Amino acid sequence: MSDKTKENINVTEEMETSNFIHNIIDRDLENKTYGDRPIYTRFPPEPNGYLHIGHAKAICLNFTTAQKYGGKCNLRFDDTNPLKEDTEYVESIKEDVRWLGFQWDKLLFASDYFDRMIECAFTLIKKGKAYVCDLSAEEIREYRGTLTEPGKESPYRNRSVEENLMLFQEMIDGKYKDGEKVLRAKIDMASPNINMRDPVIYRIAQATHHNTGDKYCVYPMYDYAHPLEDAFEEITHSLCTLEFEDHRPLYDWVLRELDWEMPPQQIEFARLNLTNTVMSKRYLKELVENGHVEGWDDPRMPTIAGLRRRGYTPEAIRDFCERIGVSKANSTVDISLLEHCIREDLKTKVETRMVVLDPLKVVITNYPEDLTEEMEIENSKENEAFGNRKVPFSRELYVERDDFMEVPVKKFFRLYPGNEVRLKGAYFIKCNEVIKDSEGNVIELRCTYDPETRSGSGFEGRKVKGTIHWVDAKTAVTLTVRVYDYLMIEDENGENVLNPNSLKIMNAMAEPSLADAKAGDRFQFLRKGYYIADPVLYTEDNRVFNQIVDLKSSWKK
Ligand code: ATP
Ligand code: MG
Repeated sequence: MSDKTKENINVTEEMETSNFIHNIIDRDLENKTYGDRPIYTRFPPEPNGYLHIGHAKAICLNFTTAQKYGGKCNLRFDDTNPLKEDTEYVESIKEDVRWLGFQWDKLLFASDYFDRMIECAFTLIKKGKAYVCDLSAEEIREYRGTLTEPGKESPYRNRSVEENLMLFQEMIDGKYKDGEKVLRAKIDMASPNINMRDPVIYRIAQATHHNTGDKYCVYPMYDYAHPLEDAFEEITHSLCTLEFEDHRPLYDWVLRELDWEMPPQQIEFARLNLTNTVMSKRYLKELVENGHVEGWDDPRMPTIAGLRRRGYTPEAIRDFCERIGVSKANSTVDISLLEHCIREDLKTKVETRMVVLDPLKVVITNYPEDLTEEMEIENSKENEAFGNRKVPFSRELYVERDDFMEVPVKKFFRLYPGNEVRLKGAYFIKCNEVIKDSEGNVIELRCTYDPETRSGSGFEGRKVKGTIHWVDAKTAVTLTVRVYDYLMIEDENGENVLNPNSLKIMNAMAEPSLADAKAGDRFQFLRKGYYIADPVLYTEDNRVFNQIVDLKSSWKK
C-alpha cells in the first residue's frame, strides 16, 4: 500500500467518529424535532441506469443511519422523468441494494404520488404561489438573470388564480404540446439564489412513463417533487449530495407554503469521487451503448453489478464506505483504498491455489520420467483452518514466464541460468539450459532438482533467495484469465480517458484442484492476486476467471 493510502485510511478512521449527520440527528432527538416519530431515511435513485460505487456510499449512509437509531429506510424510485427511465434499471437497483446487505422498509415509486403532487400544485395556485407561464424554455432562461443580475418577471406572472387553475387543468388534460406551457412557483425573481427565481415545477411531456404509462402528460420537476416525496413518507432526514445545497431553500419553500407539519430536513454530504473512475450514469451508459465494455456488469465498470462480477464482496464495499466516512467537503478518494478493503476481506476467507498465468515450460532432466509425487501445500497462509491440499509434481512443469530472466537484473533472485530457486512446497531446482525457438524466444528451461531439498524434510544444507510457484504440466487445467487494469487513466492534462489496455486475456495453467471450482468461487492465486470464477460466464468447458485485485507483492520489478 502506498504511503498516501495509509494516510487516507488514518484520516478517515478519525472521521468515522464524527459523522456530522449523526450529530444533527442526536440534536433532533434531544429536541424532539419530530415528536415521537422514528428516524426515517430513504435512498432515492432515479431508475435511469445501474448503480455505481458512489451510490453505495449513499445507500450505506441512509441504511446504516436508520439502523443506528432503530429507524427505517425506504427504497424510493425517483421516476419523475419518463424519457430516461426503464424497468430494467428498477430491477437491477433492487438487486444491488439487497446484495449490499440492506432491507428497505417500503419500496416506493415517486410516480405513485403523481395525483397527490398535482393536488399540492393546485393548493399552491390557490394560494397565489404558482402560475402557468407561456414563455419558452429559452425565454425562461433569458428572463432568469445571472449570478450578478436579478431576473425579469414573466409577463404571465400575474395571471389570476382562476385563470391559472383553468390553464393547469388544461395542461393536465393534454390540451398543450411539450414546452407550450409550464407551471412555475411564484417566489422572487430578484433572489440571489437563482433556484428561487420562479422555478418551473411542472412541465409537459407527451411520453409513456415506465410505471404510469400514458396516464399523465405533466410531470413534476425534481426540486418540487423531492420534498413532497419525503414529506409523504414521513422522512425525517433527507440525505443528498452537495450539489443540492443551493436547492435547499426551494425544498423548504415547498413544504412551508403547503403548511407541512414537522417537515423533513435536507442534509447534504460530499459525493464520492474515486481516482481512475468516472461515476456519472450518463457516461457509463455511453460506454455500454458504444460497446467499450461488455455491459453494465463488465468487471471493469464501477457499477455495483460490475464490482460484484469482478469478485468484490458486499462486506468489502460496506467497509470501504465506512472508512471514507461522511463529510461536507468534496474530495477524491484513492481507489487503492477500495482495493485494500477487498484484500482485507478476502485474506482470511479464501484458499490459495497455484496458477501460472503466462506459462513457460520447465523440464527437470534428472527427475524420473514416470514418477508423480504428491506435494502437501497449505491452503492459506492467513487461515490455518483451511488445512493442506495435495498437489501433483512430476518431471514437466510450468512456471511464470516473468520468473525467469536470461540476463538477470540486479536483485533478481528467481530463475536464470546457473541459479537455484525453491519451487513452492517442493524442491530446489537449478536452471542449466535455455531452449529457444527459431526466432529466439525462450520456450523451455532445462533444470535439475536436488532430491535432498524437498519441503518439510528439514533440509538445511544451503539456502536460496527465491521461491516461485509452479504447475504440473501433465495434470494442469487450462483457464482463461482476465487480468484488468483501470478502465480510466489520466491523460497529460489530468483528465480521465479510456485506457486502451484495461483488459488482458491470458491462457493460464492451473493445478488440477481448480477443476472443481464453481462459478462465483474466489481464490488467491499464489503470488498473483485474488480471482473469481466469473459468475456469468464460467462453466466446466469455459473456465473464465476474473482478477479481483492484485497482491501488493514484493516481487514487482
Ligand atoms: P449520476 O450523476 O451518477 O447519474 P445521480 O446523482 O444522478 O448520479 P441518482 O439516482 O439521482 O443518481 O442518485 C441517487 C442517490 O445517490 C442520490 O441521493 C445521490 O445524491 C446519491 N449519489 C449519486 N452519486 C453519488 C456519489 N458519487 N457519491 C455519493 N452519493 C451519490
Ligand atoms: Mg440524477
